Amino acid sequence: LTDNIGKLNGYLARFHDHGIQNLIAGESRPAASGAVFDTTSPVDESVICPVARGGAEDIDAAARAAADAFPAWRDMAAAERKAILIRIAEGIEARAEEIALCECWDTGQALRFMSKAALRGAANFRFFADKVASARDGQNLRSPTLMNVTTRVPLGPVGVITPWNTPFMLSTWKIAPALAAGCTVVHKPAEFSPLTARILAEIAHEAGLPDGVWNLVNGFGEDAGRALTEHPAIKAIAFVGESKTGSMIMKQGADTLKRVHFELGGKNPVVVFDDADLDRALDAAIFMIYSLNGERCTSSSRLLVQDTIADEFEARLIERVNRIKVGHPLDPATEVGPLIHKVHFDKVTSYFDIAKTDGATVAAGGERVGDQGWFVRPTLFTGATNEMTIAQEEIFGPVLTSIRFASEAEALEITNDTQYGLTGYVWTNDLTRALRFTDRLEAGMIWVNSENVRHLPTPFGGVKASGIGRDGGDWSFEFYMEQKHIGFAL
Ligand code: NAD
Repeated sequence: LTDNIGKLNGYLARFHDHGIQNLIAGESRPAASGAVFDTTSPVDESVICPVARGGAEDIDAAARAAADAFPAWRDMAAAERKAILIRIAEGIEARAEEIALCECWDTGQALRFMSKAALRGAANFRFFADKVASARDGQNLRSPTLMNVTTRVPLGPVGVITPWNTPFMLSTWKIAPALAAGCTVVHKPAEFSPLTARILAEIAHEAGLPDGVWNLVNGFGEDAGRALTEHPAIKAIAFVGESKTGSMIMKQGADTLKRVHFELGGKNPVVVFDDADLDRALDAAIFMIYSLNGERCTSSSRLLVQDTIADEFEARLIERVNRIKVGHPLDPATEVGPLIHKVHFDKVTSYFDIAKTDGATVAAGGERVGDQGWFVRPTLFTGATNEMTIAQEEIFGPVLTSIRFASEAEALEITNDTQYGLTGYVWTNDLTRALRFTDRLEAGMIWVNSENVRHLPTPFGGVKASGIGRDGGDWSFEFYMEQKHIGFAL
């Protein structure tokens, strides 16, 4: 821990002079208004550094820079664009330790889960670098009188708005395909955790990305974020965040007919049938809610457990949850770090009382840890039913709600009785049941006998209030590109 804190202080020293500035048209700039806000660490509430508080004027400058840079970036030879994306991946790998330590300090996520976040970000750039050459491929759909050719063209400048929970990885996940498609970008990262977005934009700049192709504007959702979604030069918004923010963005973008891609909230079920491999199911259920502080869109925050095994399964769960190590995020032994911010801490801890009022049992946790920083004890609610608030609302913390079911039909009904539909996890050794159940489960992504394991060519996204659109593989290009048809008379 001491060693990691020493290294972190070395990395943060560079932010002491100018704080975090915006990056517009290749230039570091303070906000046009001169305004700043502080980013603080959730470990002890200390100020990390001031951050430029961008507004409509900064967004306008960034959108213009992105529009100016677009034609040359679109028309650059694929091999050259690919080489730049690979250099960005290499730059990320070279600074992986700095990225991991800064992200943990800024977000409170434990280093043991974050140490690989930078490498996953680099993998995103490598994956989409490999797809640059084929991004524009189309088809020949010949008719008796026409040679019909299709091609794909990049949309133009796009806005990317990201949340605070795993900011580095999520930013790469959106920006890499946008650049591979030939779009230029204005990125507005979350105000709670802006450190690594700045490092990422610098890496791209140093990798030789032409000025204006990737612009970074920090600021709050209601001013910088809003201005981005309303700007006429921005053709689309790729957004990751809360469902209610997605709905606001859709309204804000209506006048300029924005194309939107939303990755939103979840209340994902992990369904454990009595014929499952219970040891593995237990490990996965714990990992998918208590890793990354439970501040993870794909976390399994509802446990549905068959009543025949529920007593034993919950008893084993309680014993394991009570052993989870809460502590400093830079301590390699820590499993759960502090929640991002007081605002979020207040939200998560409010469910401890809500659970009791609802009539559920707080079987583990349910309290703050220490009196400095935003630490909470990993929490398990048992005796819950699906209509309770704790089973319906996204808590977005290390908090699991356990609900019992008697039959497959009841499990399916409970599973789908939610506004969300991001992921689902099903544990059973009955193949026919797995097929039947997953066919009816309302979610964009389902894993059977597995935790969430991301494979980049597969589609990522949710249904219902969990999102619109898909990322991954060629699906990303469906969003960042326009299909064009050209008919040649024969
Ligand atoms: P949030 O919606 O509060 O904020 C996300 C981003 O939107 C921030 O950059 C914020 O400044 C900006 N924003 C806020 N209001 C805006 C507005 N009116 N116009 C434009 N931009 C605006 O979300 P959060 O609290 O930062 O993140 C947590 C949420 O993100 C959770 O609901 C979580 O499930 C979701 N999430 C989803 C995925 C996914 O892939 N589905 C991944 C990670 C997080």
